[in-house]
Formats: sequence, structure tokens, C-alpha cells
Amino acid sequence: MVEAFAVASGKGGTGKTTGTLALGMALAEEYDVTVVDADTGMANLLFHAGLADVETTLHDVLVEGGAPVAEAAYERFGMRVVPCGTSLSGLEAADPAELREVVATLAADADVLLLDSPATLSSKSAVLPVVLADRIVVVLQPTIPAISDGLKVQEYALSYGSEIAGTLFNRVQGDVTAVRERVDRYFEGPLLATIPESDAARAARSAGEPLLAHAPESAAATAYREAAAALDPRDGDSDDVAERFRTAVIPDPP
Ligand code: ADP
Ligand code: MG
Repeated sequence: MVEAFAVASGKGGTGKTTGTLALGMALAEEYDVTVVDADTGMANLLFHAGLADVETTLHDVLVEGGAPVAEAAYERFGMRVVPCGTSLSGLEAADPAELREVVATLAADADVLLLDSPATLSSKSAVLPVVLADRIVVVLQPTIPAISDGLKVQEYALSYGSEIAGTLFNRVQGDVTAVRERVDRYFEGPLLATIPESDAARAARSAGEPLLAHAPESAAATAYREAAAALDPRDGDSDDVAERFRTAVIPDPP
């Protein structure tokens, strides 16, 4: 079985990478999970996962005649983690279209693929994860601008046949009832969890560890486990999913 999720939002700094690793670790208790830093332009998953010094990253795989993806896949925290490099030269050399082949290959050995996605929808490489994924987890900070950006992601995803798995409210402080009503009204899928503003999340990032490894008992970690339990991954046929990735038409940005 395999299902691919993109963790996306219309904005940077909303908690996509924190959330990708947290959902991945929670799901890894039951499933074979592979996490990919598909934010190839502004990669930062490597810093969250203690992989800042590794030799081979996704950038090396995405170049023509590049490394096999197995060389950029690291067994960490009970998951397979594919980090991306941060250099401009690495980005310039990478061919975003190759991401299709990479995820197709990874799909063969995973039950759940989580694609940490770019903050924007402004280039072909930025929209690809949202198009390839079966379902999208939309990460929102509970503010009107963040919701409006998240709605663009939803609209784009739906127009390419990707479904919405649900939304995550991150960095919540105080009462969010009013915002929640809007989200219930405008977003498809349930509110998967409300993640509180969390010193533990910041400390985990500084320590280079995923939140669920660094502070598994924190309120934020507990909320992510709830969200993961609500995802209920579907058992798509691995060969069919891989073929869909390989043959995906690279879309135009909106
Ligand atoms: P993105 O991938 O969307 O850019 P990150 O996951 O890297 O966002 O998070 C951005 C910053 O916010 C990081 O420093 C992270 O530690 C911090 N952060 C994420 N979630 C929370 C939270 N619930 N409370 C406090 N800080 C958080
Ligand atoms: Mg990120």
C-alpha cells in the first residue's frame, strides 16, 4: 500500500517542516513512512532532522545522471528521511521534473509518503508536490491572511484532483473559535488538530531533532499524534501510484 500526502500552506514559517516530521514519526509507529523535503528551493528539513552534514541530498538526485535516491535516504527516527540541500548551485542544477521519478521509486517501499512542500505556488517545482500527492494536509496559523493563502493551496490542489486530508492549526494561542468557523466553512476535510504555541517545538528545531523525538510528552507532540491518527492512510496500489507519479504532467503555476 502507499498513500502520498503533501504538507502544504500558502506561507513560509507556518510549521510545515515541523508538522511533516511530527506526522511522520507518529505514523511510523504503524506504517513504513518516508519523508521527503520537496521544498527544494528553501529546504530546511535537514536542520530539523539532524541531517545538516550529510553527504548526499535530494539535490544530488535531481540532477541529470544524478545519484540514486537510495543514497539520499537516511534511516532516522523510525522513518526514511530524504533531506534536500540548501545551496543555490544545487538548486540551479536540479531538475524539478525528476521529483516524479524520485517519489515513484520511494513509493515502492513505503506505506506513507510525506512531501514537505514549498511555501509558494510560484514555480513548477513549487506546485509539483501538491499535484502529485493523493491528499494535502494544509497547515494554517489561525489568522485571516494565512487562511486566505491556505485557500489558494486548496483551490489549486482540488483543480489537479488532489484531495484535502484536513487542516492543522499551528501556533495557536488563545481562543480561535471565530477562525475555526471560517475554516469549517471554507476548507474541505476536518480540522485534524490544534497545535499550541510551543517552546518545545522551538527547542526541538534548535536541537536538530523532530518534536516527537525531542519532547514526546509535550502538548504539541500530543496534538500531532492526534492529527496523525485522524489521517487514516489509504492503501493505494504501489504500482499504480508509482505510475501516476512517473506520468504526471508538470503543471503550470496558477
Ligand atoms: P515551515 O516549514 O512552514 O517554514 P517550520 O516547521 O520550519 O515552518 O517552523 C518555522 C519555525 O517555527 C521553526 O523555528 C519552528 O521551530 C517554529 N515552530 C513551529 N511550530 C511551532 C509551534 N507550535 N510553537 C512554536 N514554534 C513553532
Ligand atoms: Mg519548511
